[in-house]
Amino acid sequence: MDDLIRMSAADLASALASGDVSAVEATRAHLQRIEEVDGDVHAFLHVSDHAVDVAADIDRRRRAGEELGALAGVPLAVKDVLVTTDMPSTSGSRILEGYMSPYDATVVAKARAAGLVPIGKTNMDEFAMGSSTEHSAYGPTRNPWDLDRIPGGSGGGSAAAVAAFEAPLALGSDTGGSIRQPAHVTGTVGVKPTYGGVSRYGAIALASSLDQVGPVTRTVLDAGLLHDVIGGHDPQDSTSLTDTWPSFAEAARAGASGASLAGLRIGVIRELPQTGFQPGVWAAFQNALTTLEAQGAEIVDISAPHFEYGVAAYYLILPAEASSNLAKFDSVRFGLRVDVPRGTVEDVMAATREAGFGDEVKRRIILGTYALSAGYYDAYYGSAQKVRTLIQRDLAEAFAHVDVIATPSAPTTAFRLGEKIDDPLQMYLNDITTIPANLAGVPGISVPAGLAAEDSLPVGVQFLAPAREDARLYRVGAALETLLTEKWGGALLDRAPHLGSAKEGNR
Ligand code: GLN
Repeated sequence: MDDLIRMSAADLASALASGDVSAVEATRAHLQRIEEVDGDVHAFLHVSDHAVDVAADIDRRRRAGEELGALAGVPLAVKDVLVTTDMPSTSGSRILEGYMSPYDATVVAKARAAGLVPIGKTNMDEFAMGSSTEHSAYGPTRNPWDLDRIPGGSGGGSAAAVAAFEAPLALGSDTGGSIRQPAHVTGTVGVKPTYGGVSRYGAIALASSLDQVGPVTRTVLDAGLLHDVIGGHDPQDSTSLTDTWPSFAEAARAGASGASLAGLRIGVIRELPQTGFQPGVWAAFQNALTTLEAQGAEIVDISAPHFEYGVAAYYLILPAEASSNLAKFDSVRFGLRVDVPRGTVEDVMAATREAGFGDEVKRRIILGTYALSAGYYDAYYGSAQKVRTLIQRDLAEAFAHVDVIATPSAPTTAFRLGEKIDDPLQMYLNDITTIPANLAGVPGISVPAGLAAEDSLPVGVQFLAPAREDARLYRVGAALETLLTEKWGGALLDRAPHLGSAKEGNR
C-alpha cells in the first residue's frame, strides 16, 4: 500500500497498464492515506464517495481491451476553484457552501475522459486570494513538512495533498503564483502554462486576464503527462489558444536524459535584490544555477528593471478584475442567500455578501472598486496597466537573448501559520517572483531545488519561458531534477518526513 502512494504518476500508470496494479487498488491506497493523514494536513475540502466505482469502471474497460489514456486509473486531486458535477465546488468560500455545478470544468472533463480518477476537492484561499491557504473559509491547510507552517497559497491544498502522498497528481490555478509558490514551499513541482494554453472554462474566475490552470505533481515528467491531458484548445474559453502543442511529457523525458545542456542560455535578472531573499533560498537557487552550468548551460546576466514592480501593479489589476468577477455572487443566482425581513433586494445582497465573503475578499473588492472608480481610474488602474506593459517588454527583450529566465520561486521557505495573516503587505510581497509571469502571460515552472540550510524546508527554483514555449520549461526542469536527484539521492523526495511517522514505512 505504502508503495502505491509513493510511486510517481508515471510509474503508477505503467503498473496499471501492465496489470500489476488495478485502478481500484491505487484509488483505495490513496483514500486510505487521506483517511490517515488528512486530519492533520487538511488538504481536502471534500473526498469523493464514488472514486472507487470510477476506478472499477476503468479496470473493467482495461480488461475489455479498450485503448486507455496514459494516466488512466491514476487518482487526481482537484482544486476547489474548478467546478465538478459530482462534488461540491466552493472556491474556499462560505458564499458557495455546498454549491453543485451543472457542468464539469473542461480540465476535469478532459481528465475524466482520459481515465483519471478524481478523488477529491482541495482546500484553497477563498476565491484564490492569498499565499498561505489561511484565507480559506474552511480552515487552513498545513504543510506536510512541518504542520505549524503554511503550505503556500492559494492552492495549498493541492500542493499539500501531493506532498503528503494523498494524491500523485493535482490540478491548481495560478493567477499570481498559486501553483508555483505552494509547489516551492512543499517541495513539489508546479506549472503555470502559457496564458490560453489550458482551458479556464469552469475555473471560478478570480482575475480573467491572469488566471491559468495547471498541474501540481512530485516530478516534472508527471506534470508534463498531466499537462498533455488538460491542455489544448477549448471553444468554450474565448481566451483559449488554437495552437497545436508538443508533448510536454516528451519534453520532460528529453530533459531527464542527462544530455548536455550546451547551447542553453539561462537568464538571471540583475535587478532582483538578493537582500529580499532568505539566505538559504538564495543559496539553493545559486546551487541550481551552478549545477546547470556544470552540465553546459550558460548563465547570462539580463536586465528586467520593472520585474520587481509586478507586485504593485498586480495588486491593483487583480482587485479590479476580481471586484467585477465577484459581482455575480449576488444572493440570486448561486449559493448563499441571507434573507432580510421586509428588506430591499439591495439589503439582501448586502447581508449575503457581508456574511458570505471573508475579510481578504472584502478587502480586495473594496480596493478594486476604488481603483476602478471615476477620478481614480487613471491614477491606479491605468498606471498599473502601463507597468504591466513595461514588464511584458522587459521579458520580451530578455527572451531575445536567453532561452529561459531563472529566479527563486519565492523569497522565503514556508512561514509559520499566523505569521503574516494580519499583515497583507507582507503576504503580498511573497509573490514578488511569481506575479510577473501572469502579468506577461508567459509560462513558469517551480522545481524543487533542495532544502534551505537554516530551516531544512524546501526551496523551489522557477524557470520562465516565452509564451507558447512551455516545452522548454519541462526540458530544463527535468534536467535540473535529474541532476539534483543524482546529487542528493532520494532525500529530497521524502516530502512528508514528519507525517504519520509512527506508522511503519512512512519515514
Ligand atoms: N498570492 C496571490 C494572491 O493572493 C496569488 C493568487 C493566485 O495565484 N490565485 O493574489
